[in-house]
Amino acid sequence: MSGSTTDSFLDAVGHVPDEALVDAALADAAPSILWLAHPDRPTAAPALAGRTDADLVVVGGGFTGLWTALCAVEADPGRSVVVLEAGETAVGASGRNGGFCDASLTHGLENGLGHWPDEMAELSRLGDDNLDGIEATIARHGIHCGAERTGELGVAVADWQVADLAASAEAHRALGMHVELLDATGTRALVDSPAYRGGLLLPDGTIMLDPARLAWGLRSAAEAAGVRFHDHTAVQAISRSGPGVEVRTDAGTVTASRAVVATNAFRPPIRGVRRSVATVYDHVLATEPLNAARKAALGWSGRQGVGDVGNQFHYYRLTPDDRILWGGWDALYHFGNRVGPEVEHDDRTTRTLARHFLATFPQLEGIRFTHRWAGPIATTSRFTCAWGTTHGGRVSWAAGYTGLGVGASRFGARVALDLVDGRTTERTELSMVRRRPFPFPPEPLRWPAIQLTRRAIQRCDRRDGRRGPWLALLDRFGIGFDS
Ligand SMILES: Cc1cc2nc3c(=O)[nH]c(=O)nc-3n(C[C@H](O)[C@H](O)[C@H](O)COP(=O)(O)OP(=O)(O)OC[C@H]3O[C@@H](n4cnc5c(N)ncnc54)[C@H](O)[C@@H]3O)c2cc1C
Repeated sequence: MSGSTTDSFLDAVGHVPDEALVDAALADAAPSILWLAHPDRPTAAPALAGRTDADLVVVGGGFTGLWTALCAVEADPGRSVVVLEAGETAVGASGRNGGFCDASLTHGLENGLGHWPDEMAELSRLGDDNLDGIEATIARHGIHCGAERTGELGVAVADWQVADLAASAEAHRALGMHVELLDATGTRALVDSPAYRGGLLLPDGTIMLDPARLAWGLRSAAEAAGVRFHDHTAVQAISRSGPGVEVRTDAGTVTASRAVVATNAFRPPIRGVRRSVATVYDHVLATEPLNAARKAALGWSGRQGVGDVGNQFHYYRLTPDDRILWGGWDALYHFGNRVGPEVEHDDRTTRTLARHFLATFPQLEGIRFTHRWAGPIATTSRFTCAWGTTHGGRVSWAAGYTGLGVGASRFGARVALDLVDGRTTERTELSMVRRRPFPFPPEPLRWPAIQLTRRAIQRCDRRDGRRGPWLALLDRFGIGFDS
């Protein structure tokens, strides 16, 4: 490497790829979402027109909404359920993510221990049950989503991260979890990168899958159980009506006893969610399928999901057709929680991702990226889902999984159902459920507060993980910013 850069990742890895190689790798990368560009994509259901009624209305057709609908009819086959989706099934975060379906309900063990040390054993058991429940649903409904319980490999690309992995191994073992702490050679035997200095393998708690095909399979299972879907049906308002609620869309109205709002990072049609959740955009690249020589140059026969473990991090995996999906690093916040196509492309972030990929896997020089996209992540100041009720308990909501909602959304949905049905369960008794996260400030303060925190996180990674005064202050109050 020639001198140090302003990029903490390249400095740590010690290899700066030539910009001409970055240009060549990105030359064919079209703005297209790999998972959604699949022949299994269902046709959109007709938009709601006119009036209808239901026992339960679900607003949002991502994982939270789909699990809510499916769990509701599986628990009570006579219940009439309608799902209203502004776009189409899984066009939000659920069809754009990395497909790491993780047992953790708390955005990782360390974060859970930091917030709920006394509940962590229970949260961990509930997370394991939840993952088993997802696997059982996939099997019961014959959902072809490429699910493989490969586990996950955390990799250190800097010496301070090696120490963090050792501490993480201890914390996992203390809760009885099976982990393997690896040196550089052991890590490279699983996936070969000259950047790796150590690794932590968690062999049990992660299923890698195709998230869009999981979502579409959940939708078919729900439809088969009688759930009605209306796509291209954005909910504009929810109000009380008699003993229930009235849910208004552009061209229709649903009268229902209960409603669950599952809009996650999008602007919700109810208040309350907005203070708890901030929307950040996470960007992703996918390569062309690997040929045999490239696969041999990587190893990776265990097909684990991989993540490097700085404060800013990448996550990556092999797809069912042997591409590499590579995402993360920048978490871009747009003023006013903006979402939509106009904030989905950022050339600087795309180039950074490509550069970091080539620095991690120099042996793949010459590979082409075929897809690039981004998606909205709802984060809370404690990095886990938050829940609430409105309209006198007739409406509940679940939002804010940060970057770990593929698995946790089933748990989030079940809690939202418990709350809207007025049931006390072991889930609703958890402090994580009963207490809301520290709220984000409203604009115009939210934007500068998040930018300040992002810069502090970048500085922390540049200084070998040493947390400066701003992060130390936030840590003291148990609040933070992540993706
Ligand atoms: C790039 C990226 C990578 C990620 N990687 C991972 C990962 O590997 N593992 C992991 O566990 N998590 C990951 N996540 C997070 C995970 O995808 C989410 O936590 C999860 O999909 C949230 O599901 P959801 O149903 O709550 O939200 P969404 O899937 O966003 O669904 C919300 C739905 O509500 C709809 N909607 C919005 N407003 C309205 C309205 N007014 N009326 C009707 N419908 C409305 C939207 O169109 C959308 O379909 C990632 C997220 C992103 C963006």
